[in-house]
Amino acid sequence: MNVYPMGLRPEDEDLWDTAVELLARTYRTDRHEVAAAIRTRGGRVVTGVHLAGSAGRSSICAEGIGLGAVLAGASDADLGGQVETVLAVLYRPFADGGALRVIAPCGVCRELLFDYCPNARIYVHRWPGEPPNTPLVATGRFSGFDLPARLVDGQAVPVRVAKLLPEKNLRSW
Ligand SMILES: [Zn+2]
Repeated sequence: MNVYPMGLRPEDEDLWDTAVELLARTYRTDRHEVAAAIRTRGGRVVTGVHLAGSAGRSSICAEGIGLGAVLAGASDADLGGQVETVLAVLYRPFADGGALRVIAPCGVCRELLFDYCPNARIYVHRWPGEPPNTPLVATGRFSGFDLPARLVDGQAVPVRVAKLLPEKNLRSW
């Protein structure tokens, strides 16, 4: 039986499964550590994988790649009208086995998501207390479904994208 983070809505379990499967196939330490699964209002599930670049600013987050993939598969350019729910999952290898959790969008992604889909739902991770400071242990590539099902403490919390940047003005294009 699959394990899901507390707070994840049952109807979004497929997004978690999709992102975790994608991470299991593509994870590489310091390169591809986050996968995003996005449900469109038409019911499609579209994905994106984080690409870390050697020049830090060249890195691209999974959420932005996912938004582009939604648009690439759409019949029109109304991205905001198409994105319903965004869920990004982070995998981190620890000495005692890897851990998975929902990861909230970074500041750059908050800006991008706000511009294109302020009414979408997105998940953030709420720690039960102070975030733990656990040392990371580098590992090599793994494949298939070898990802451990250990979840990081805390809760997945769905919020409206617009609430992530309450003072930001809607973009006029
Ligand atoms: Zn980001």
